[in-house]
Amino acid sequence: MNFFDAYPYVLLIDFLRYVLAAGMAYLLFWKFFKKTVKHRIIQRRSIKSSQVLYEIKYSISTIIVFSIIGCSILMAKQSGYTLIYEDISEKGWLWFSLSIVLMILIHDTWFYWTHRLMHHPRIFKHVHLVHHRSTSPTPWAAYSFHPIEAIIEAGIFPIIVFIIPAHETALLIFLIYMILRNVQGHLGMELLPKSFIDNRYLNWHTTTVHHDMHHRYFNSNYGLYFTWWDKWLKTEHGKYVETFEKITHSKDTN
Ligand SMILES: [Zn+2]
Ligand SMILES: [Zn+2]
Repeated sequence: MNFFDAYPYVLLIDFLRYVLAAGMAYLLFWKFFKKTVKHRIIQRRSIKSSQVLYEIKYSISTIIVFSIIGCSILMAKQSGYTLIYEDISEKGWLWFSLSIVLMILIHDTWFYWTHRLMHHPRIFKHVHLVHHRSTSPTPWAAYSFHPIEAIIEAGIFPIIVFIIPAHETALLIFLIYMILRNVQGHLGMELLPKSFIDNRYLNWHTTTVHHDMHHRYFNSNYGLYFTWWDKWLKTEHGKYVETFEKITHSKDTN
């Protein structure tokens, strides 16, 4: 299959991945069950339809960038240039599982450092400001990036397929994890229980409050999946835990 024959399929998959994850979250929590979860809304601001349209417009532009890069990787795979493999038994189930964990860890690191770079004053307004126009994001903001940021974000795909031997299904699981966690970060309401933040086996995962505070304050909580980098580099917002507890506790007892 050549690039132009494969492209519509890759575009459709990337589009569905975004629309299903962001759309389901939006419909479920901001429309159908809003009354039930209303007390968990992090920033008490009404969301304008112009903001949602803005987020969708830039997310579609990102999907186009992602699909061009995704299709190029597919072509590279066909020509045997990537480390993607098709038979699980070739490397076993242990590697299959480990490769997913490794992809997530590498992506978390890639995201933190490129994100910090995009907050450099000379770069911020030209690239990352598009994403930060949503100071109180909705799930539709998951891919709301300037095209240059979309290219930087997509940089994780070539890094992975040329470094890690990854099975196609492992890559698919990683892609699903990526969009679900991304939508969670932009949900605008915290659905995790209060106990989450005190659970040392879980609290190193980022929460919606964590990323929502990044959109609100700009200069802290840069992490994607885990809180490690923010803790190590002392960029976690001083009131993160307090805010999480406030949203998940006091409002539940209202
Ligand atoms: Zn964001
Ligand atoms: Zn940012």
